[in-house]
Amino acid sequence: MPQSTIYQPMTTKKHVLAFDIDQTLNIAKTPIPPEIADLLVECLNYFEICPLSGQKFEQFLVQIVDPLKHAGVTKGQLAHLHLFPAQGTQYYRFENDNWHQVYNYPLKESDVASITATLEAAARELGYWEASQLAAGDEIIENRLSQVTFSALGQKAPTELKYAWDSDMKKREAIVAKCQEKLPDFLYEIGGTTSINVAAPGMNKEFGMNHLLEELNIEKSAVLYFGDMTEPGGNDYPVVAMGVDTISVRSHEDTAYALRGILGLLGVIVKAD
Ligand SMILES: [Mg+2]
Repeated sequence: MPQSTIYQPMTTKKHVLAFDIDQTLNIAKTPIPPEIADLLVECLNYFEICPLSGQKFEQFLVQIVDPLKHAGVTKGQLAHLHLFPAQGTQYYRFENDNWHQVYNYPLKESDVASITATLEAAARELGYWEASQLAAGDEIIENRLSQVTFSALGQKAPTELKYAWDSDMKKREAIVAKCQEKLPDFLYEIGGTTSINVAAPGMNKEFGMNHLLEELNIEKSAVLYFGDMTEPGGNDYPVVAMGVDTISVRSHEDTAYALRGILGLLGVIVKAD
């Protein structure tokens, strides 16, 4: 992208804020709350904003872009929003009033088929295949093009049920262990509340972050990353491990608090509702 279209460093070295989505900007799978939307709209005046998450592009529109529109985001501000779905194996930019895909690294059809079969077999063997609880039209295993995602209760299950299903991650760890025996050459990541993301080796958030740095033509020192799974084994850890400065949050409330601090240093106070 042309250098002149992105913000240059100001008084701080950081001019790019990158974010995990689920549990960092929102309650998992739901749109970002109005407070986060207001804060991000303000941040778009000063920073390149880069959500980087396992969700697919359509979910980014529902979870991030629609709430920003609700909060009054302008087209000029949207030019500073960079969407990195499917752990950054895809990249979308807003240009000429629309979202355009800049790159995409999809999985092979044959890989999608073997991952899907392996996940289902592992979950069934362990008694964790919850198909009877699915809402109409919902699915447990979803092809997100650059990765395959297992969501134990489907996409549409109530949030409370999702939180309760595997709060200590033991069920998902067991499923992953079984899958790794059957199909070792892929990358398994536990994310969200009921999810396992499966991708080709190397297709994790480090891949996404490296492409983000390349596409925005910046050094990693320019980025501040926010995530809730930043410990080893978590899906945000690859970003930490590559040496990107990271703020670990427990929830979107923590993120809001940090963003208020960052904006406050710039003299911008966003009123709480
Ligand atoms: Mg998360």
